[in-house]
Amino acid sequence: MTIRSRPSKLKIMFRDNTKVIRIGNKVIGGGNPILIQSMTNTKTEDAEATVRQIRALTAAGCDIIRSTVPTPEAAAAIAQIRKQIDIPIVADIHFDYKMAIAAIENGADKIRINPGNIGGKQRLSEVVAAAKERGIPIRVGVNSGSLEKDILEKYGSVTAKGIVESAMDKVHMIEDCGYDNIVVSIKSSNVLMSIEAHDEIAPICPYPLHVGITESGTLHSGNIKSSVGLGIILNKGIGDTVRVSLSGDPVEEVVTAKLILKTLGLRKGGIDVVSCPTCGRTDIDLISLANDVEKLAAGYDLDIKVAVMGCVVNGPGEAREADIGIAGGHGEGLLIKKGEVIRKIPESELLPALKYELDNWNM
Ligand code: SF4
Repeated sequence: MTIRSRPSKLKIMFRDNTKVIRIGNKVIGGGNPILIQSMTNTKTEDAEATVRQIRALTAAGCDIIRSTVPTPEAAAAIAQIRKQIDIPIVADIHFDYKMAIAAIENGADKIRINPGNIGGKQRLSEVVAAAKERGIPIRVGVNSGSLEKDILEKYGSVTAKGIVESAMDKVHMIEDCGYDNIVVSIKSSNVLMSIEAHDEIAPICPYPLHVGITESGTLHSGNIKSSVGLGIILNKGIGDTVRVSLSGDPVEEVVTAKLILKTLGLRKGGIDVVSCPTCGRTDIDLISLANDVEKLAAGYDLDIKVAVMGCVVNGPGEAREADIGIAGGHGEGLLIKKGEVIRKIPESELLPALKYELDNWNM
């Protein structure tokens, strides 16, 4: 039987064809690199705690931060926070147009609103006028949980088509105010519906898309849902910024988002650590070692692959394919660099030996 390879479908890079949007010191859309967003979970009114968290997120790789602005005090804090951070800050507004205007006046680099619940046409046009004056973008956010009654009636229930129609209605509301500095997000906690909705919106939306699976859960389930959902959506050439939503430390969101982008080849840099699953042949504490190596590797900006393997049967082969690797033995391990065995090292010295190599890495 002859196995014929099928011609691969040409992937359409929707993200290359969107409008380019500036958010503070960052640029998205039009094929620019996909940026990672997260959201603070401090009280925005507490500028000190919020700045501390944003700095930790920035160190982890966050490119854009969003903070909720529910009160005049939170809007005022935006000015204090912005002075002390290096990444753009997005003000998240719900219902109150005055908070949107106050956040803009206090220097928010972008606002996120639902134009449908900001209090009517007049109030929306005031918000848009304020954004226009400062030249900041408006993110139009639609969530599957807040679809309008008429759309629910039209489609019978929450559907991908309904989410897209609602989002595009909101986009048109901003456009009707004479503004096209827009980013769009459509969110659903249902991964398959989210994928379908992005398939529907990407060909018809000229603006950058912020992509995320909303309310995806705790660390374990949230990481899996986000990886599957974002992985499929991003790999179709859709999406300009991403957020992984977790019921947990937002730093974890950033770590996961970075790994998703790296796995898809959409972000370069940083050490790629591979490690074996362990088996009956493993004679060193490989699980601890792999975790330690992963933590160690996060501190280097080297674009290399490090392999941590449990035995001398498969280990050396895998480790040889990596830039540097460890193949465990009986209470010891081989250090392998660029395919060559460098030396045999006692188990307790494997991590320091690897650290030494990374500290002195010469491309
Ligand atoms: S590399 Fe060795 S120890 Fe690790 S899973 Fe494979 S055979 Fe087992």
